[in-house]
Amino acid sequence: MTKKGTCPSCYFEIEVNDDVILGEILECPDCSSELEIIEIKNDEVVFQIAEEVEDDWGE
Ligand SMILES: [Zn+2]
Repeated sequence: MTKKGTCPSCYFEIEVNDDVILGEILECPDCSSELEIIEIKNDEVVFQIAEEVEDDWGE
């Protein structure tokens, strides 16, 4: 099963796995925005643009 949400930046419809959790960060496959899951409904998730975090991921 998957859930669907809409990118608040480019309105691309994003499918996510059913086991996503609140606060999870995803990258929009269309505009590459970092999206945080702020709400999970039955078959729908709500995203908001995540704060840009300047973490050092080793690059
Ligand atoms: Zn997007």
